[in-house]
Amino acid sequence: MTIWNLGSINSDHFYRVGHLPAPGETVLSAGMERGLGGKGANMSVAAARAGSHVSHIGAVGTDGQWAIDRLTEYGVDTRPIAVLDTLTGHAVIALDDAGENHIIVFPGANREISRDAVGLALAEATPGDILVMQNETNQQAFAAETGSKLGLKVAYAAAPFSAEAVTAVLPYLDILVLNHIEMAQLVEETGLLPGPKLGVDTVIVTKGAEGCVLYDRKNGWDAIGFDAIRVDAVDTTGAGDTFTGYFLAGIDRGMGAEDAIELAIKASALMVTRQGTADVIPDLKEVLDWS
Ligand code: ATP
Repeated sequence: MTIWNLGSINSDHFYRVGHLPAPGETVLSAGMERGLGGKGANMSVAAARAGSHVSHIGAVGTDGQWAIDRLTEYGVDTRPIAVLDTLTGHAVIALDDAGENHIIVFPGANREISRDAVGLALAEATPGDILVMQNETNQQAFAAETGSKLGLKVAYAAAPFSAEAVTAVLPYLDILVLNHIEMAQLVEETGLLPGPKLGVDTVIVTKGAEGCVLYDRKNGWDAIGFDAIRVDAVDTTGAGDTFTGYFLAGIDRGMGAEDAIELAIKASALMVTRQGTADVIPDLKEVLDWS
């Protein structure tokens, strides 16, 4: 089966500085690196590395061919990525010696995806395929509705959190993944908890080093807790995206939610022992061999 990911693609620009600039201050950077980022791209790479066939639906600007090439190299089907006459989404990340950062994200092409492009891509989908989205692109509600009508399993990672965005896709969702802060925001802003009123069959709340909680319709949405694996974390960036990508790859292989969570916990724990994002997401063999 295929995992269709309507997702963001960013060019992450890292600038190393002695200290973060104060308002009005100019600082020189000692080094600069460019990497592939964006929650969407990270998730596509994670699911592809986990062995799934992943088709990424998205857009870059005329400066973004390298990001498409990188995704292709990582095993993602990039044919549904449009190249638009605009700028690729990018993040400007200043990192100081103490590991503190300042980040500016410009969504660029990620918010200019056309309805036609989404519709054309999903016309190739087969019932039972998975559609996943995060909140860094436009067209989420249209994709969710279309995917649901086509009989796809529709999954949503509610990050960055917006009550408006999650409410718009809620009627179509089968799977919702969010971290505990996003869950608290959802409850505060909508009053909805995992259960019949929220109406999503499978809800997973991640809690960083504390693990995660599964609320599944088949267990009457009773909370089932899972511990994370204890590791010396080096960089937790991309942990959530790796978790979701691996979880969906597990579901795609026919695993039950519990087994897919165990796989995702292992992959994301290995991921936090590494510095970087999409470029260092582990593959299935590394995850299975790791103990
Ligand atoms: P991010 O935004 O940093 O990508 P997130 O906030 O979406 O992450 P988290 O809840 O931080 O998601 O992490 C997702 C999963 O990754 C956790 O449920 C856990 O299994 C694993 N994980 C995260 N941090 C650690 C850690 N320090 N040690 C072990 N596992 C971790």
